[in-house]
Amino acid sequence: MKAEETGEKTSVASRPRRRRIRVARTATVLGVLAVYVVGVVLSTGLGSLSAFGIGDIAAVCPVGALETMIAGRIVLPLPLIAIVLAVLAAVCFGRAFCSWVCPVPLTRKLVTNKRERDAFAADRKKGRLLSKRGWPGLGRNGTSALGVLGVALATTLVFGFPVFCLVCPIGLAFATLFALVRLAMFNELVVDLVVFPALIVFELVVLRKWCATLCPVGAFLGLFARFNRTLVPTIDEEKCLATATGTACDACHAACSSDIDLVRDAGTGALHDCTKCHECADHCPASAITFPWRRPKASAVADEPDRTPLSS
Ligand code: SF4
Ligand code: SF4
Repeated sequence: MKAEETGEKTSVASRPRRRRIRVARTATVLGVLAVYVVGVVLSTGLGSLSAFGIGDIAAVCPVGALETMIAGRIVLPLPLIAIVLAVLAAVCFGRAFCSWVCPVPLTRKLVTNKRERDAFAADRKKGRLLSKRGWPGLGRNGTSALGVLGVALATTLVFGFPVFCLVCPIGLAFATLFALVRLAMFNELVVDLVVFPALIVFELVVLRKWCATLCPVGAFLGLFARFNRTLVPTIDEEKCLATATGTACDACHAACSSDIDLVRDAGTGALHDCTKCHECADHCPASAITFPWRRPKASAVADEPDRTPLSS
């Protein structure tokens, strides 16, 4: 049931707040892109999310770092540091990177229309996107994404170079931006301007649920996000309409792009798939969801997807 259908006053008061969080998310992503563009224009060499740094202080994305070392069959200090930093970030902030830094969700909004997003939501409701079964301890979405991560690393081992980096939508988004900047600055018309956006459209429109179920970077972060205890969405059972009054409210689940059902065991996402986007809280008609600095011990939601439903 959508929030509006619960009969509660959702939204006049909460709309400005919802807008604020969305604007803040968009602003951080645009800020990352702006830093990249400035870096290209001024040739600072700052790089993108796939590979960035200044001078000797450099880092690459954790999956790229793993692939680099596997391809070279060597342990390198900088990629290793990049991996450790990514692990620490995942433990401290879960998969917040996916909602607050990564340009892919914003890119998806640009390349899909409302009809496609509605069709996806309908498929999700009918359970067509993914089996609800997952490997024990990995979650349902995590199972498929970790499969893609395994394939990315295995192909690197076989072919001797980071194959996945060629098709990673994060890298493609920055590569497209790079080509656009070169077009604007030097009138350079290159084939990248067609090929990269076409690959992005294929991955985000045809494969549809890239971020939650296929992205190996998200899968890597999700592995360590299960140890995250800060800013975890937490339900106040006394306020939640479903737990307090038995109302068939599903607004938080319906709003979650990771298909996490915080109340019942009905989503394909596990809690460690949470990207801290705040959409669930912003759609809750009872303001029952908060993001405490420290997750309470007796949290309403267990980490694993085979959690016991709170209510039926
Ligand atoms: S549970 Fe809430 S904060 Fe987490 S991904 Fe889903 S909608 Fe976003
Ligand atoms: S937390 Fe409870 S009241 Fe709020 S949207 Fe979810 S099910 Fe509805």
